[in-house]
Amino acid sequence: MARVYNFSAGPSMLPEAVLKKAAAELLEYPGSGQSVMEMSHRSPEFQAIIEGAEALLREIMKIPANYRVLFLQGGASSQFAMVPLNLFGIAPRADFVNTGTWSKKAISEAKRYGTVRIIATSEDKNFSYIPKLDRAMFDPSAAYVHITTNNTIEGTRYRELPDTGAVPLVADMSSNILSEVYDVAEFGIIYAGAQKNIAPAGVTVVIIREDLLGKALPITPTMFNYKIHADEKSLYNTPPCYCIYIARLVFEWIKQQGGVAAVQKINEQKAQVLYEFLDNSKMFKGTVVPQNRSLMNIPFTSPGEDIDKLFIKEAAVAGFVNLKGHRSVGGMRASIYNAMPAEGLKKLVDFMKKFETNNAK
Ligand SMILES: *Cc1c(COP(=O)(O)O)cnc(C)c1O
Repeated sequence: MARVYNFSAGPSMLPEAVLKKAAAELLEYPGSGQSVMEMSHRSPEFQAIIEGAEALLREIMKIPANYRVLFLQGGASSQFAMVPLNLFGIAPRADFVNTGTWSKKAISEAKRYGTVRIIATSEDKNFSYIPKLDRAMFDPSAAYVHITTNNTIEGTRYRELPDTGAVPLVADMSSNILSEVYDVAEFGIIYAGAQKNIAPAGVTVVIIREDLLGKALPITPTMFNYKIHADEKSLYNTPPCYCIYIARLVFEWIKQQGGVAAVQKINEQKAQVLYEFLDNSKMFKGTVVPQNRSLMNIPFTSPGEDIDKLFIKEAAVAGFVNLKGHRSVGGMRASIYNAMPAEGLKKLVDFMKKFETNNAK
């Protein structure tokens, strides 16, 4: 069977070149006589893999020297607890912007450990936009401000970052890390589960400014303490070795594409192909205000559930899979992370045009 165009929100496509390289090295990682899956995490070979992954990530994201990179487990969902546990030692309060399902989860987890203020929300319009933020809205004595840079389910993204003054900005970047250029220095912490733009599920990348280490609440479990993982260079316990290896291959692939800026350009063109079609279609419509449209997740609707069902079914037969939308938005969603080839978008739009003609009233 040929490989399909997989529009899943996550886990999602990996670059074919990465999968081929991993396949070629599956039985024997060069010079080691064994698979990366079988290797000691304390071996010199794995040491080189994890250090190589960090060095490449630092290079492609231009991570400043006063930031640490951690490769953890537990997904972005564990970060919802880990961030407050580690930063509420500064002050037991934080400001949150509620832009959808994942923000809400981060909020409810942080509430267990301190005072949480929701300073802005877009819930009034089913999270179809990013609320306007202004420096006066933030509590200058808060430990941090939390945002979700790209809202995977609702299909929105921040076009500009809020000015939080001296309060560290913490970002859940799970679904758009490495898809567009960010200045890491604008953040206190960036975290991202791997399974959208980095690697298979299993590793969570945390980028943290050094001065934010060592502020954890006393109840913080060892495995949830950033300082422990920073001191042990992500090897306090057995890390997700194979995922880190794939992450390294993906970082290398991004570098080969010309870096994050080059990948961003391709992503903008890819997204534009679908948005332009949606803006001109009589059958399909995007659900997000134009200025906050995501480059990674594009939800859209048709006139009714029957058409949704027929479309999703026929698309799958034609090799475009996982286009069903999230139940909170309905309709369809095309997730088009870095590894989705541009050709996938062109072919999807050709298919949608034909579908529209065939099913026009
Ligand atoms: C997928 C996703 C999560 C959840 O990630 P897990 O690794 O499954 O915990 C959190 N936030 C955002 C923005 C996501 O896209």
